[in-house]
Amino acid sequence: MFEEVFPNLFAFYATDYSANSYLLVGKKTVLIDTGLKSGGPALKDSLAAVGFAPEDIDSLLLTHGHSDHFGASYLFPNAEIYMHKFDATYVNIKDVIFTASARLNNLYFPRITKNYEIDSLIDVAPFKLRVISTPGHTKGSICLYEEKSKFLFSGDTIFSGSVGRHDLPSGSKLELIDSLKRLQKLDFDYLFPGHGLMLKEGQEENIKMGIELLSQ
Ligand SMILES: [Zn+2]
Ligand SMILES: [Zn+2]
Repeated sequence: MFEEVFPNLFAFYATDYSANSYLLVGKKTVLIDTGLKSGGPALKDSLAAVGFAPEDIDSLLLTHGHSDHFGASYLFPNAEIYMHKFDATYVNIKDVIFTASARLNNLYFPRITKNYEIDSLIDVAPFKLRVISTPGHTKGSICLYEEKSKFLFSGDTIFSGSVGRHDLPSGSKLELIDSLKRLQKLDFDYLFPGHGLMLKEGQEENIKMGIELLSQ
């Protein structure tokens, strides 16, 4: 079920190992990550419950190239699909290892039509999402930062109480530590991670904990 956590921001929390989805409604209607293909019907029903059809989605903003984040992209016929160009290469050639599709039993690969420009702003007025490059979980992982509302959509880079894996293809512990240090410099109050619940307070401590976990 989507819940409206802030005006025009809806969160869909996955109940299994699939990823969360976040719906932002503004100048455009965008979805951050889709979850697994098998979660497609539930995602569609949840969108309908808050008044949206898959056709209404203008853009899919994918945080990285793992199938638990892109598998349900098949639902959205009108969406431009964004991903960092490094990860997009593997999705476009349907690499079942890189995308964890073999492990997660995913059989759908979207055609990535747009590559993010790092540090650019994606205009979903009143929201403006800055694309932050955060390699470490995968080389092409990104976070999306909304400065005015102080939101960070963090994909699998950092969660509430833990950090992303760095032992998967193109992952790097050192790069992940470096990415977390760059996130430390951002001023945000709300963390919307790829898995688990949102974090409403203690962002500095949460990132510090992540860096300490990785530095052990
Ligand atoms: Zn994930
Ligand atoms: Zn991942």
